[in-house]
Amino acid sequence: MNLQDLDQNWIEQFEKPLVIAGPCSAESEKQVMEIAERMDRNYMQVFRAGIWKPRTKPGSFEGVGAIGLNWLKKVKDEFNMPIATEVANASHAKLALEFDVDYLWIGARSTVNPFTIQEIAESLRDTDKVILVKNPVNPDLDLWIGALERLVAQGIKKLGVIHRGFSSYNQSKYRNNPQWQIALELKDRFPNIPILGDPSHITGRRDLIAEVAQQAFNLEYNGLMVEVHNNPDGAWSDSKQQITPEALKDILVDIILRKKND
Ligand code: PEP
Ligand code: MN
Repeated sequence: MNLQDLDQNWIEQFEKPLVIAGPCSAESEKQVMEIAERMDRNYMQVFRAGIWKPRTKPGSFEGVGAIGLNWLKKVKDEFNMPIATEVANASHAKLALEFDVDYLWIGARSTVNPFTIQEIAESLRDTDKVILVKNPVNPDLDLWIGALERLVAQGIKKLGVIHRGFSSYNQSKYRNNPQWQIALELKDRFPNIPILGDPSHITGRRDLIAEVAQQAFNLEYNGLMVEVHNNPDGAWSDSKQQITPEALKDILVDIILRKKND
């Protein structure tokens, strides 16, 4: 099997753009449940939360760990909502499968490492779960495609990519420079691979989420992954870029309305 030959039913089932939303990090069962409850299912179809967090420096909150899988499972059972989490090694991947996580994403710091990707891919062999691959932190399209190839080589058919921007030494308006042309080249070369924009990690700033989300829609992305929190300023990670579920709904309503009026 190769990258031209993937199963696209998983994205086609969504009538509207796919929006995966939820906190950067799961912090407690109560927090996770409150956020899920406040998410309007007409606009946000999948619940995300990080439980193993790759942080830049030691001493930062590194995620609640496997216990968070129980909380995600509760969201899935009580709200009948598919769930998503980041896996950064083979044991994360195995645990996520055990807990029936529907969407497993590979973070930008993992996509850069072929050994890590190979290990994760082998641990997910032949899974029918959806695997979403974030772009690597550095602007290297081949590395991004290479990660997809490693997954496909293990019989994984439901793939998607998440564009979260690329880190750079120079300060700019954005936390991670989008370099749209890189994602667009991937989109052109593999039109059968769904692409989601991640305005939260591109911007690093809540006041810019709407404009970057709009850009992704204008470029005909298949959807978005956005961080939402019950108390954004008090979030244990990425607090500056998180918004409430209600604020995300307003952004999505605006974007969809604008499209209708075009
Ligand atoms: C995240 O989605 O919370 C995350 C850590 O993202 P990234 O891998 O894009 O930095
Ligand atoms: Mn985050």
